[in-house]
Amino acid sequence: MSIEIRLGDVVRLRKPHPCGGYEWDVVRLGADIGLHCTTCRRRVLLTRREFEKRVKTFVRRGDPASGAAPHANLPPPAA
Ligand SMILES: [Zn+2]
Repeated sequence: MSIEIRLGDVVRLRKPHPCGGYEWDVVRLGADIGLHCTTCRRRVLLTRREFEKRVKTFVRRGDPASGAAPHANLPPPAA
């Protein structure tokens, strides 16, 4: 299964960043997903699989025209 990920999404992960932040901006899509910590601005790359394991919920959805997979229309995971 695959979660639809969009540029501009803000996601909440299951574990906090060491800085204490839970929320991340999606800044890059591809084989790896680029995330920016919204608290300390640190940038990380996760594989799509890691991302799907770690994400808890979508706080805000990005623009659907900016790079989503066309056939992936699953809802965000329940909080
Ligand atoms: Zn952080």
